Amino acid sequence: MQFAEPVRRARDFFATGGTRPLAFRREQLQKLSAALQQHEPAILAALQADLGKSPYQSLSSELGFVHAEISHALRHLSRWVAPLKRRTPWLVAPARGWVQPEPFGVALIVGPWNYPVQLLLSPLVSAIAAGNAVILKPSELAPRTAEVLTTLVAENFSPEYISPVNGGAEVAVALLQEKFDKIFFTGSARVGRIVMAAAARHLTPVTLELGGKCPAIVCADAKIELAARRIAWGKFLGAGQTCVAPDHVHVHSRVREPFLQALKKSLLEFYGADPRRSTDYGRIVNAKHFDRLVNYLREGKIFYGGEHDRQELFLSPTVLTEVAAGAPVLREEIFGPVLPVLEFDDMAEVTARLQAAPTPLALYLFTQDRACEEKMINELRSGGVCVNDVIAQMVGTGLPFGGLGQSGFGTYHGRAGFDAFSHQRSVLRRGTWLDLPFRYPPARLSVARLKRALNFLLRD
Ligand code: NAD
Repeated sequence: MQFAEPVRRARDFFATGGTRPLAFRREQLQKLSAALQQHEPAILAALQADLGKSPYQSLSSELGFVHAEISHALRHLSRWVAPLKRRTPWLVAPARGWVQPEPFGVALIVGPWNYPVQLLLSPLVSAIAAGNAVILKPSELAPRTAEVLTTLVAENFSPEYISPVNGGAEVAVALLQEKFDKIFFTGSARVGRIVMAAAARHLTPVTLELGGKCPAIVCADAKIELAARRIAWGKFLGAGQTCVAPDHVHVHSRVREPFLQALKKSLLEFYGADPRRSTDYGRIVNAKHFDRLVNYLREGKIFYGGEHDRQELFLSPTVLTEVAAGAPVLREEIFGPVLPVLEFDDMAEVTARLQAAPTPLALYLFTQDRACEEKMINELRSGGVCVNDVIAQMVGTGLPFGGLGQSGFGTYHGRAGFDAFSHQRSVLRRGTWLDLPFRYPPARLSVARLKRALNFLLRD
């Protein structure tokens, strides 16, 4: 497998400067928006076929996000590309300094299967806005969606500008042999390491959007019904296959029972007594993940759910209690509809447990106490934090979204996405009417006078 040719074509196109004009970028974003509207029925059908997502879910958690990114970029692009004036020190006066964002060049975007539209196209919006040429690698595990997106891109963009490449790991590995100017990867930490190692060969900058175990902590003073409803929604959305879903819950022992009862009540309201018949409930992506998830059911007491059917890849929303410390379900990223609920008596216990664990993509705190909130935010690390809700921190374009440590690095959404695909180029223009002599050899100042002078001259 050889991808030198499409990458060379993209590089040649980028070198013409064709991707840079603001008008071109805007036009491409508008084209993408119109194409998404035109292909909406096919996209919704593909998401339903690949992942059992209802149109309601797909519109709110996939297409809605991309449209929001496009309209935000269209509104703010002229400000984002504008050079930003910076002060310069007296030492180089007279001078003007500024930072001008510039496209990296040819960007590779590799997407996962769980939100195969949003997680491929939101970075694409940022890459277009920043003026790059792009190679897109959709996930092979959402094949119908990949096919529709490939058609959409082929119909609307020239192949040297945006080119989709389809296939599995072997295709991605071959693609990564090529030199890109930026790689934006969303997926597992395991593959993230492979991507970063490949990028290192060419010193290509990377953004890694990875997963992990996002904990939810429910304190005794939290609004329990609300916490349970929000956690139940975020956990079982997309059948738990969401990178920012709460992975497990730590609940204060005083409110454990009402919390569990409230979870049960919410799950019954959302998906009914037989979630298999609910059009709002998804399926597991494949048999391998299904088997992995079903194995977790043995690791605790099933408080709610547990029904499963391999034929249909159906696993009902499941709440596990009494899970033994060290069980795989508490060590591995669950990425499915199994929610272990653990209890604690003292916040310090939870803090110690979480401090010893890899840094998650998100941390969810449920409390009404601002002092406790502040303490936990200070003591626990994560890519992002949401207090009294889940997932809300990554909705919209205002807050940068990304991980830390094991959950990745780099951020995107809105301006952060534009920055992720831009090099911040510093430019300094010196005046020519003055040329102070003292920087040139031979040295003219004593060390003491030099120190005093520098103290002043390096200020800006
Ligand atoms: P994955 O890492 O298996 O695959 C992601 C992409 O990498 C796919 O396009 C795949 O074809 C490609 N790939 C697979 N093997 C490769 C290899 N050897 N070399 C190069 N590329 C390779 O992830 P997935 O199963 O699609 O997604 C699930 C994971 O992604 C979970 O860990 C989840 O938490 C994470 N995730 C993170 C975010 C986020 O925004 N941070 C969002 C969604 C999913």
